[in-house]
Amino acid sequence: MNGQPSRPSLKWSMRMGSLAGIPVYIHATFLILLIWIALSYWRSEQSLGAVIHGVVFILALFGCVVLHELGHALTARRFGIRTRDITLLPIGGLASLEKMPDDPKEEILVALAGPAVNILIAAVLWLWLNLQGAMPAEAVGALLQGDMLQQLLALNLFLALFNLLPAFPMDGGRVLRAVLALRMDHLRATRSAAAIGQAFALWLGLVGLLYNPFLLFIALFVWIGAMAEAGSEEVKSLLHDSTLEHAIITHFDTLAPDDALSRAIQLTLEGVQKDFPVLDQGDIVGVLTQEDLLRGLQEQGALAPVASYMHTGIPRAEVNEPLEKVMKELQDCDCHILAVTREGRLAGIINMENILELLRIEAALKK
Ligand SMILES: [Zn+2]
Repeated sequence: MNGQPSRPSLKWSMRMGSLAGIPVYIHATFLILLIWIALSYWRSEQSLGAVIHGVVFILALFGCVVLHELGHALTARRFGIRTRDITLLPIGGLASLEKMPDDPKEEILVALAGPAVNILIAAVLWLWLNLQGAMPAEAVGALLQGDMLQQLLALNLFLALFNLLPAFPMDGGRVLRAVLALRMDHLRATRSAAAIGQAFALWLGLVGLLYNPFLLFIALFVWIGAMAEAGSEEVKSLLHDSTLEHAIITHFDTLAPDDALSRAIQLTLEGVQKDFPVLDQGDIVGVLTQEDLLRGLQEQGALAPVASYMHTGIPRAEVNEPLEKVMKELQDCDCHILAVTREGRLAGIINMENILELLRIEAALKK
């Protein structure tokens, strides 16, 4: 948004390049997976050829996963939603969309685009193998014993079907939620979709217990995903409906730009406040956070002026702005505090702790 060098959504990620203008990162744990695959091939086959074959196969498979995520990202882009990055994890890909579309019909298309890519890849492989006369006549299961392209075909079909399971965090869960949201409000749709997802997870877990332990693992994954999605949707709806008005802090200590850092030490020790707005003629010109204070003390000692170490360019928010927007600004600015104005004049400050406090109180009141 502001021309900063792009940062990955997850720490420990390395940039591999970009596709259609979207940075693609690979998480460090993915490299561990590659090393593990290489080692296990080396142990069982003792040949470099087998190791290369194994690693190339995993890379090809994850190439398909990246294309799946790119399907989501490019469809979202058509609806004006940007994707910050795509990150590859050992469990699959992750496209960090700025948000999901508010229109359920658009959300359905964005969610379906991923699995559609895998079906497309499978179709192309199927056509190619048929032209080569290398397509086994038996069931799809036989593909898994075949060569690399046959295995890729089968796994792409599996990826499409797996992602279409009607449960969060799978794409199918989003489709289900969006279909429900065509008839009810977003929060209720999410709650219902999460409940259906958890019922599904229970059933899957039971089948897994009887037949295949791997299903048990998926069931757990679905159960946790459903809970997380429902939880974050509750928070989102609270954030959407509340404004700053009730969370704003009006009693706080302040500093002046030419105060010495010793004054900040005194205020810190006397009270519970950690970050101090710096006021000049009634207007906020900066914030001295606790880190700023410690850095100043280390570099120049207690007599250094506050102005040399404070954060400047503190963002402002009007009291009637939705918390959703304010919270995002607080996360982006790294200054701990936002100046809150009423009709342009300073009315107080806000920090993340206070917003979270307000959310907890409102959640308790709603129950
Ligand atoms: Zn997907």
